[in-house]
Amino acid sequence: MKKSKYAVETKNLSISWGEINVLNQLNFELYDGEKLAIVGPSGSGKSTILKILAGLILPTTGEFKIFGEKQTYLRLDQNNPPDVRLVFQNPALLGSLTIEENVGFLLKKNKRLSKELIHQIVCECLAEVGLFNIENKLPNELSGGMQKRVSFARALITDQNLNTQTKPLLLFDEPTAGLDPIASSRIEDLINKTIDKANGTSIVVSHVLSTIERTSDKVLMLYGGKFRWAGSIDEFKKSNDPYVFQFRHGKLDGPMQPKDI
Ligand code: ADP
Ligand code: MG
Repeated sequence: MKKSKYAVETKNLSISWGEINVLNQLNFELYDGEKLAIVGPSGSGKSTILKILAGLILPTTGEFKIFGEKQTYLRLDQNNPPDVRLVFQNPALLGSLTIEENVGFLLKKNKRLSKELIHQIVCECLAEVGLFNIENKLPNELSGGMQKRVSFARALITDQNLNTQTKPLLLFDEPTAGLDPIASSRIEDLINKTIDKANGTSIVVSHVLSTIERTSDKVLMLYGGKFRWAGSIDEFKKSNDPYVFQFRHGKLDGPMQPKDI
């Protein structure tokens, strides 16, 4: 397969729910190896973008490519699907399965891998996120923070059934929402470690400033179905753009108003 310099390319990507154009002709490119933050107020469509890239929903109109391959089907209907790993806002572990079964889920499908090897891979991935000797526990026996770490360990597993010729595209949806600043810092370190370890390209969706600033090289600001601002993380910190300024300072005055959402 021809290698693309882009992990993601979109052309007029749009999605509507009824009358509302949640995403309205979005165009963006993400280079292989880049770290992008998509920011914007609640309801602006950030999760929707991630769900499209993860192959969970299809756009209403427009096109997008992942690693140079045009995507036209939902992930489950696809041959040779791209390696896209979505880390949900909540850990989304299966309650009746052990931690090992949750993390090793994708490996189990591969009949060539022995039980012992799966156990070893799972324990290595858990160790990467600072978890030891918990593989036989059930999710509800772990604290919320530990469950979150498990969901990151799951993103380190390479699914052999996917296209492994490309780097993985890692998608994180609001990874630090509702956490205190110190817990957020730990998760931000873990995001960076996970991206490095997986040697991936990443998109982090967040409205937490420290998370945006610590996990990304560039930023897209989504509002009212459109990208209103794009720039590097340094530009984002300094910009006087009205959208960026309102977002960073939590101002009620500004271009983003509840009626528009
Ligand atoms: P964000 O992640 O930025 O908070 P979302 O992507 O979750 O926003 O949602 C964007 C908008 O799309 C919201 O107004 C939401 O109510 C609407 N929406 C999302 N999913 C659906 C759906 N399956 N059916 C109808 N409306 C939806
Ligand atoms: Mg969301």
